[in-house]
Parts: sequence; C-alpha cells; structure tokens
Amino acid sequence: MTYFLCPVCGKKLTELEKGAVCENRHSFDKAKSGYINLLPNNLPKGNHGDNKLMVKARHDFLEKGYYLPLRNELCSVIKKYSSENAVILDAGCGEGWYTKGVADSLQDCGILALDISKDAMKITAKRDKKIKSAAASVFHLPVESESIDICYSVFSPLCESEFERVIKKGGYFVYVIPAENHLWSLKKAVYDEPYKNSVKPYEMESFEFIEKVTVDGLMEMQSSEDVLNLFMMTPYYYKTSEEDTKKLLSSPPEKIEYSFEILVFRK
Ligand SMILES: [Zn+2]
Repeated sequence: MTYFLCPVCGKKLTELEKGAVCENRHSFDKAKSGYINLLPNNLPKGNHGDNKLMVKARHDFLEKGYYLPLRNELCSVIKKYSSENAVILDAGCGEGWYTKGVADSLQDCGILALDISKDAMKITAKRDKKIKSAAASVFHLPVESESIDICYSVFSPLCESEFERVIKKGGYFVYVIPAENHLWSLKKAVYDEPYKNSVKPYEMESFEFIEKVTVDGLMEMQSSEDVLNLFMMTPYYYKTSEEDTKKLLSSPPEKIEYSFEILVFRK
C-alpha cells in the first residue's frame, strides 16, 4: 500500500517496484528518482508549476541555508502539534528542502510530499526514502479524506476545500506566508516605488486560528548569484524588465531582510 489514492477512481494505490496500481488496474509510473507520477493524462502540454530554471534557483539558494531559521521554526511548530506516528503532508513541497527538514526532525512520522512540478519532485524524491512523494496538484490531492494529522504549505497555492477534506478532525494546517517587510531591501534595489507585502487576515472558513509565529532576520548575502537566485524565487522576477534586473545585479544589496509568518489553524 501507499498513502496515495488513484487519481482516476479514488481507490487505494499499491506501490510496485516501478510504479503504483489501483484495484481497477489504473497504473502510474514511478520516476527514476522515486516519485510516483499521479498527474492526470489530460493536463495540457507544457510545464506545470516551477520549471527547471526556477527549481534550480530555489534549490541553489535554499541549500546555502539562508532560510534555515524559518525551516527550524517550522519544524518546531509542526513538532509541537504532532503526535506519535502522525501523518504529515507537505502540500506544494517544491524541491523538498523544507520536507527534508521536517522528515529529519520527526523521525517517527509518515511524511508525504506533493508538487505539480516534476522537476521539483525529482529533487524531493531523492532527498530521503522516508518521504513518500508524488507529482500531483494541491487542487486534487490524491490522498484519502481525513487521513492527515498536519498539512503544511510554504508559499504554495492554497486549496482550502481540499485541505479541509484530507485533514483529520482536530488536525492542523500550518501556513507559511511572507510578512510585510519580507525582502524589502531587494525590492528597494529593483523598484523606484517598492511596496510592502500586504498580509492577509488569518481567516479560513473551516479552520480555527490557533497561533502565529513570526520569523524575522537579516541575511548577509554572500554573492550576487545568491541575490539573483533569491530574486528568481519571487513572483516579482517574472514581472521585472531585463533592465531593472541588471540594475539589481550591478549593485546587489549586501543585506536583505526576511520576514515570515507561520500560521497555525485547527480543523
Ligand atoms: Zn483507479
């Protein structure tokens, strides 16, 4: 058995050496790296989620450890709300840097990781055999209803109805979002009139807000390559002209603020 469901008929999947199959004989391939491809066949052609270049920028940046304070805090928050043998889902896991941290700090828990980007899942799946990984959309989670103790999302698209479906009653949703001052110096270096992030109110219809943990700090940037990788991780990069990007790289900020909110909700 796997933790995953057949995305076609919703029956449980049995994991095989090279893939997975349901009792209705719908079968799915396992990539060489180890994730199961549960994306529907009828997805329009082209890239889904982060492409190779975006995944590489993210990977290179995260591996330098700039966001370690966030990962450590996220792990302690999840640890605080988890119980023995809890099943934890990273919904929109990207290249799995946070997932690996959570897997390491919660040794006795089941860890599931999903992302729509196959390029990202390729890295996630290789990180740790303990992480059960699949390429899938957070809008159609191939996961049984009320089977997850803690679902978390780090800057990923949110699908409240799906999260509500899969999280157990009394289970938790942990949501990491950028706070007001996040990357302020980076934005100042790019834009003539930068704006602060607008932070949404902590409301989710089917969940009760429990607590907010803030993680703030200043990163001493080691190279302009790191600044570019960080910039590429943001939604601003793709809206910025080549000229403005050049401006950033000609005099990259030496220090950049990070500022996050970790929000905890209970179903
Ligand atoms: Zn099936």
